[in-house]
Amino acid sequence: MKKTLSRRQLLTAVPPAAFLIGVGSQAMPKGPMQPANAPDNSKPKLRPIDAVFAPPSVHWVGDGFRVAGYMNVIPDAAKRLSPFLLLDYHAPYTYEPTTRARGVGVHPHRGFETVTLAWQGSVAHHDSTGAGGIIGPGDVQWMTAASGILHKEYHESAWAKQGGTMHMAQLWVNLPRSDKMRKPGYQPLTAAEMGLVTLDEGAGRVRIIAGEYAGVKGPARTATKITLLDVELSAGGTIRIPSPARENLSVLVMAGAVTVNGDTHAPTNSFVLFKNEGDVATLTASTDAHVLVLGGEPIDEPVVQYGPFVMNTRQEIAQAYQDFQSGKFGFLAD
Ligand code: MN
Repeated sequence: MKKTLSRRQLLTAVPPAAFLIGVGSQAMPKGPMQPANAPDNSKPKLRPIDAVFAPPSVHWVGDGFRVAGYMNVIPDAAKRLSPFLLLDYHAPYTYEPTTRARGVGVHPHRGFETVTLAWQGSVAHHDSTGAGGIIGPGDVQWMTAASGILHKEYHESAWAKQGGTMHMAQLWVNLPRSDKMRKPGYQPLTAAEMGLVTLDEGAGRVRIIAGEYAGVKGPARTATKITLLDVELSAGGTIRIPSPARENLSVLVMAGAVTVNGDTHAPTNSFVLFKNEGDVATLTASTDAHVLVLGGEPIDEPVVQYGPFVMNTRQEIAQAYQDFQSGKFGFLAD
């Protein structure tokens, strides 16, 4: 259905501190003055940029995942990024060969989904339901923890013995109240299953993981409306991303640089958050670029988080902790 994505030389430099590097111009395209009582609704309006964030400092998850936690630096992230709760981005980083099981040991999850995307390297995981698998380049593992599982994630052993460059990300996706306590489940989405759109004039290509783009659907089944696009742009190429104002919209620039809405520079490893206005965002690649587009209908419910438990009330968090302590999440050997 698709060819393996080409690999580009990816920049790995990550500035040490998180700081706001710019606020997008709110200027709309200049046009003829319209009388106030006759708005021009015929053309889509750009979604203005709220802010462009520099990458946060990196931290290790266990001893296997060197990630930058983008949601940590975004004010009011639980609301502004909903239904996304976390974005841990593992920029390309090279590991020496080892026979050690590098990664993160047994930990619980309840009330949400973990979505693991790999571009380079190989991640293995197991959980207390007996499920497990390997996430390789181009694959996405959409895990619905829901009522609760124990989980562990590490570098796949054959890959670790060779060593190499790991490039991956993990998203946490909230579930609405009605789905938080449902049975856990998996969607192992392989590279070959992704929707694929080739942009006009050699501008690039769009891999659709969830939601749809240009009428092509992604394979993920989601509890709420989500658009997750993995986009490669050629230098000079432009993508238009239709996105209604009610949906949250953000973009992570993983390689290269883009100009957003024709006027705002977003460099490698920056994160662009859009305002909830307008209908469409545009990205134009300044150099060959690789970006992840995150869109979604916000879940309008209270979010109470305690580490790996994300529920609606403090009582539900206390219950999650009690269920975890009393063994109701099952068993998983470390
Ligand atoms: Mn996990």
